[in-house]
Amino acid sequence: MEFMLLLQQIAETLRDKGIKKIGIEAPYGLKKKAVDVARYFRNKGFFTVVVIDGCYGACDTYDRELKDIVQHVIHLGHKEIKMEREMGYTFIDVDFDFDIKKLKEEMEKLNYKRLGVFSDVQHVKKLEEIKKIAKLLGFEVKIGKDGYVLGCDYSAVREIENEVDAFLFIGTGEFHPVGASIVSKKPVFAYDTERGKIKRVNSEKFVRKRYGAMARAGKKVGFIVSMKKGQYVDPEYYIELGKKRFEIEILASFELKEFELYPFDCDFFVFFGCPRVPIEEGERFKKPVLTPAEFELLIKGGDYKLFEIER
Ligand code: SF4
Repeated sequence: MEFMLLLQQIAETLRDKGIKKIGIEAPYGLKKKAVDVARYFRNKGFFTVVVIDGCYGACDTYDRELKDIVQHVIHLGHKEIKMEREMGYTFIDVDFDFDIKKLKEEMEKLNYKRLGVFSDVQHVKKLEEIKKIAKLLGFEVKIGKDGYVLGCDYSAVREIENEVDAFLFIGTGEFHPVGASIVSKKPVFAYDTERGKIKRVNSEKFVRKRYGAMARAGKKVGFIVSMKKGQYVDPEYYIELGKKRFEIEILASFELKEFELYPFDCDFFVFFGCPRVPIEEGERFKKPVLTPAEFELLIKGGDYKLFEIER
């Protein structure tokens, strides 16, 4: 549905419910759009508040914090993740357009017959069209689950890995395709929608770097649980696992910042919130910050594993 029409429909529904005050959440790249949305609703007579703080996924909502200020929240840029919330939410996912003809040309270079296609949230609406094109090119195509992966959830890949010869990721960035190649062990190709190129994904460098962080782990560890309610993971299992070998301090954080870790006499940290924080932002911390799955590897050994959060 056209964006303005959608806003109009939401405004009418909210007004019918007697809602007058709304909050608007959005990831950094969509904050300006959030301000436009706020202006639209203000012009319709609503009181609006735009959240400044980070909003990295549909797990990252501010209903607890906003409940005394507004009656409903509009969340831009992510697909809904089911969880209990303090008030009503409307999720508006924003899909990104790209040149599908270029993708077709690139796909012709792939030498695998059975293809599993997946994307990030922003490109998932294109998957059915891509499936049709791939079939015309002679591929057998499978799409797992809802078609998209999150940094903490690769079930769309895992679900079909035994039915395909290779995967094709549609989206931007390396995190999701690298994650898929660790999870599935099948060849993964990534079509970068901004560059218009397909590239085979190699997760070796990524894994080597993570083993490097794990090698710097000492005896004293800070377990940091997330105070974001959609990212809370109970550390109990990991405490039991590590208590004989490590001195464990349990800490809690909302938005993890390097300087806030200084007072704690720990050799390394394990972060129990979004797994993208230790992995993508690990370099901004002086001491190693591991995922719980990496901590488990320190003790049990085995192949490298991603940390996924059950949703
Ligand atoms: S925990 Fe998962 S859904 Fe939430 S921001 Fe991180 S990767 Fe995205």
